[in-house]
Amino acid sequence: MEVVSGVHRIKLPFPEGIPEYTNVYVVEGSRGNILVDSGWGSSEVLWAFREGLRENHLKFQDINWIVITHIHPDHYGLASKLKEFCGAEVVMHRVEAGLINSRYKDFAGLLKQIEEELSRNGVPQFELSKLTEASIWMRQFVSPDLPDVMLDDGDRLSNGSFEFEVLRTPGHSPGHICLYEPRKKWLFCGDHVLFKTTPHVGFHPQSGDNPLGDYIDSLERLEALKANFIFPGHGPVFNSLKLRAAEILHHHEQRERAIIKAMSSGFRTAYRVATEIPWKPEAGGIAFKDLAPWDRRLAILETIAHLRLLMVEGKVGKIDQEGISLYLSKD
Ligand SMILES: [Zn+2]
Ligand SMILES: [Zn+2]
Repeated sequence: MEVVSGVHRIKLPFPEGIPEYTNVYVVEGSRGNILVDSGWGSSEVLWAFREGLRENHLKFQDINWIVITHIHPDHYGLASKLKEFCGAEVVMHRVEAGLINSRYKDFAGLLKQIEEELSRNGVPQFELSKLTEASIWMRQFVSPDLPDVMLDDGDRLSNGSFEFEVLRTPGHSPGHICLYEPRKKWLFCGDHVLFKTTPHVGFHPQSGDNPLGDYIDSLERLEALKANFIFPGHGPVFNSLKLRAAEILHHHEQRERAIIKAMSSGFRTAYRVATEIPWKPEAGGIAFKDLAPWDRRLAILETIAHLRLLMVEGKVGKIDQEGISLYLSKD
């Protein structure tokens, strides 16, 4: 559907029957059209994209640039196939491009690093391999080709009708970008700000040292923008950026309090902290043990991200003992 004049949204399904969608957007211009993000790499998604184009009276050949906000499989998986079908150039931030090989080509190496990280953070042996392997199924839905064009923060992208500022917003992923059209006050924000869910920010072999600190800094940068339409990677288009950013920050403050409380009676591993706090507040709060393996892994990585930010803020200390990291609140 055409959300506003010149911007078409196409909803692309997730694989494996997961009841979610990725939003991709076609922005029409006098010099060509920009596609923002690509969806998972599968024949079903390629078909859904083709149908979406037809409903909007567009064709593959009408796409000239495919801008990838970040290289998670639900945004980047189909990019190289679409490049082939559209004859378009794939564009992304330089930092994100630098992660492609280590994330997808040396996938076994990445899994090993994740296993070590989970183990160091106290994940018990009985669930270590289950949590490590929870992402393996996703790999088949990504064709990991390098982009044609690499962007830096502050670059401009024009399609003749609209000119976008490239804003690097690390946190959800280190080279994540948002596109801002200052004249129209449009913000295409990938997974940085979502309307219903709090974007995942976890400590990961590719995340940098303090991803949650990066995320909050990026969110505060976006909050200063005047935005009339926010086009996210999932869920509805919305217009209340400041309100939504405040809700997300509030969520992180609440989680921070819960984490500090969980450490009030002694040293804790990140795993133990994760088992003692509620998850998925948008679903009313779910206990760690009731989460699926993939969500348990995300919960642990989010807990580590919080603990690392708390260490930077001087609120938490850490000691490494026999290969295990133990955290303690300084309060
Ligand atoms: Zn993502
Ligand atoms: Zn996503």
